[in-house]
Amino acid sequence: MPERFTVTTPIYYVNDVPHIGHAYNEVATDVLARWHRMRGDDTWMLTGTDEHGQKIMRTAAANGVSPQEWTDRLVETAWKPQLELLNIQNDDFIRTTSERHKAGVRIFLERLKEAGYIYHGEFEGQYCVGCEEYKTAGDLVPGTGEYEGQLVCAIHSRPIEVVREANYFFKLSEFGDRLLALYDERPDYVQPEHVRNEVRQFVKQGLTDLSISRNTFDWGIKVPWDESHVVYVWFDALLNYITAIGYGVDDEQFERRWPGVHIVGKDIARFHAVIWPAMQMAAGLPISEHVFGHGWLLVGGEKMSKSKATGIEPKQITEVFGVDAFRYYFMSAIAFGADGSFSWEDLDARYHSELANGLGNLASRVIAMVHKYCDGVVPEVAVDAELQTLMADAVGRADSAIDTFAIHDAVDAAMSIVERLNGYITEQAPWVLAKDEAQRLRLHAVLATNVQGIGTAAIMLAPVMPETAQKLWAAVGGEGEVSAQPIREAHQWRGTGRVTTVPPLFPRIEQPAD
Ligand SMILES: [Zn+2]
Repeated sequence: MPERFTVTTPIYYVNDVPHIGHAYNEVATDVLARWHRMRGDDTWMLTGTDEHGQKIMRTAAANGVSPQEWTDRLVETAWKPQLELLNIQNDDFIRTTSERHKAGVRIFLERLKEAGYIYHGEFEGQYCVGCEEYKTAGDLVPGTGEYEGQLVCAIHSRPIEVVREANYFFKLSEFGDRLLALYDERPDYVQPEHVRNEVRQFVKQGLTDLSISRNTFDWGIKVPWDESHVVYVWFDALLNYITAIGYGVDDEQFERRWPGVHIVGKDIARFHAVIWPAMQMAAGLPISEHVFGHGWLLVGGEKMSKSKATGIEPKQITEVFGVDAFRYYFMSAIAFGADGSFSWEDLDARYHSELANGLGNLASRVIAMVHKYCDGVVPEVAVDAELQTLMADAVGRADSAIDTFAIHDAVDAAMSIVERLNGYITEQAPWVLAKDEAQRLRLHAVLATNVQGIGTAAIMLAPVMPETAQKLWAAVGGEGEVSAQPIREAHQWRGTGRVTTVPPLFPRIEQPAD
């Protein structure tokens, strides 16, 4: 039976303007899903949008439309087009305003209530509408400018609101010990290490119960036993991971897909690795397999954010460099898990050195030589042993890297083949061999080795650069879709034995955007 691989992005806050920070998360999740599909795993990639809460209600009103019209518009004009632009192959898209989601949330809430984990209580707290979250004193900083003299949210730089509510609470405080045991028993549950340590430290300080309903506004899912309350937006949002795969409604699909792996930004790792597993424990569900908290994209040293004028739309990059180069750059230039700095200069330099001069040039030279010296027929001779070993090692290294979410290492392994082949051509100088009839066999071995290497790299790069990989694959005589090749046997591929042509893959860019 194939292994299960269910992987999720967070559901994106629908009011945000999609920027390269979201794109980074989407592409990484997509690369993992594509890799697993090429392994033959029973893969499912889920993404979607988070559409409830007071802030959305307020912006909809400010725009003179109903909250539903507002979120419909944003999903169709911003979020779905971004997935399409980036060539994301998600299997599903869940909206928290969909009926299937609401139904699952209600079932989950009833189950928690029956199990005794929900109670009614009073609460007064300092609430940031921007974060949709109650803040503790440590989360606030002195305001500046028009907010001088007040305490403001450290993220939004705006004053918090004091909210007093009689709400329903989830007994989160009862789960501290079980959560700590989970982190100890499954050291790879929260990754990477620094996120795991931070989450562990947070739980060790003691958990307080979580207010999970609001009755001061109504844009949300109604609490089934008290319709004067709507469900707290984070509690609602986290449940998307199970409502999308049939929780409480379609047991067969749920059994098949759950538990999954969550790829999130490290700033929301706490929600995913503290509150969410506690919710799963309370409902008697298997716990998610992994929560991976990746780093932030920094622009000029600051976290990408639309409010701080550092927000870059993916389109600004893809229009200049293309979608595959976009995907490649963010997956290779930043160690997945660490923060990474984006700069146009770095992107431009890597595009030209690694893609245009490295990969594109290799492919066009090799294809041209096979045409010139062998009439387009790939010589049927053994591949040089050193290179065959190098390819096998690279495939193995990349495949293991994917299991530890080291996407950058997987890309690096694929590109190590490209780099070695470029060196190999210089050493072997096939244009010299071609002048000497006695070296005919040697020439054939060099060309066959290059073709095999490019095909191997094409398969390994298919999850990262799907379009480019397909062109490379067709050029070296690969049959069908490169994405249908078994990625763990990439170095053993066989094709038609004839090369075709390779279109220009990475045209030179003379005027990098700025
Ligand atoms: Zn805030």
